[in-house]
Amino acid sequence: MKTILTGIRVNSEPTLGNFLGALIPMVRLSNKYSKDYNINIFVPDLHTIISDVDGDLQQNLLMEIKYYLAAGLKINENVHFYRQSYVPAHSEMMWLLSCVTSTGELFRMTQYKEKSNGGDESTNAGILNYPILMAADILLYDAEYVPVGEDQFQHLELTRNLAFRVNHKFGREIFVPPVKTIDQVKFMEMDDGIRIRDLQNPEKKMSKSSKSENSKIMLLDAPEVAAKKIMSATTDSVGKIQFDMLNQPGVSNLLQIEALVNDRPLQEVISTWAGETRYGDLKKQVASSVSSFLADFQENIAAIPDEMVYELLETGEEYANNIADAKLAELQKAFCIR
Ligand code: ATP
Ligand code: MG
Repeated sequence: MKTILTGIRVNSEPTLGNFLGALIPMVRLSNKYSKDYNINIFVPDLHTIISDVDGDLQQNLLMEIKYYLAAGLKINENVHFYRQSYVPAHSEMMWLLSCVTSTGELFRMTQYKEKSNGGDESTNAGILNYPILMAADILLYDAEYVPVGEDQFQHLELTRNLAFRVNHKFGREIFVPPVKTIDQVKFMEMDDGIRIRDLQNPEKKMSKSSKSENSKIMLLDAPEVAAKKIMSATTDSVGKIQFDMLNQPGVSNLLQIEALVNDRPLQEVISTWAGETRYGDLKKQVASSVSSFLADFQENIAAIPDEMVYELLETGEEYANNIADAKLAELQKAFCIR
């Protein structure tokens, strides 16, 4: 059975943008494929600590699993939740893979260049090396499908290269390489990746690291606080409610949010508002939709006991350790260290 694998770092509470753009698509994918595929959803706690953590990592981790469940992810025997650090083979595999990765490959990564401010030497080595850990995360499970954003395409290509390199070096198929990024995008139907905009500055996307509280809606914002943020969202002076991301990103963003939180097709929402001119009415409607969405979602979360999450993790970790240990042993034997 093939494997679809995904992991979201737990550095801080997510925004509505992270939720609608990354978590919901994964929930859909999982519910669609979990009859025929293994769905590995792991918490990359080791990737998380390459940068500062807001809040408590353990708490963030617990909440992340709850977000998936509260968003409607259906559990069955093919869905596996696990913590990366509870499967020690990830770190060990990373070492083996680092011995077949060139330093040049790592220094060339765009993410490294960005996150190290162009190679500042005070940058921690985790930021340089994490693509190798990511390759280990994927190759340990022969995961062919790894839904990632564009910013991770380069790392996925590195993973493919490492798989081919190791197979070639030892003259046999030790790893199944993940499929090419273009084919990933096709399989996941992710071509029109959603980008929720910053409420105050809709030219930019909403980001959890934004300093301005009013620019972003956090998943755990009190519903009335979220409503206020929507009411104070930046619009424009065109005076028409229509979908035009280029010229009216603020209004278009509100239409987009209205569609997503109500699970309605965007076109339908656009038609409903066609010909209307009063931005205040649109904001009131979106504010009400977002606040009732958050209220329901937060109620769902509160109903999930911590023990349920820990049970899921323990079952998932048993599964993951079995698969990962076997793959690790295979490579250790190939290197003659076992
Ligand atoms: P940061 O400001 O720290 O970069 P972020 O909000 O951009 O945080 P990331 O951790 O970079 O979040 O990304 C987590 C996931 O959320 C990724 O899959 C990314 O594509 C998705 N994502 C981030 N921002 C948005 C957004 N505004 N709309 C939709 N998806 C988003
Ligand atoms: Mg980001």
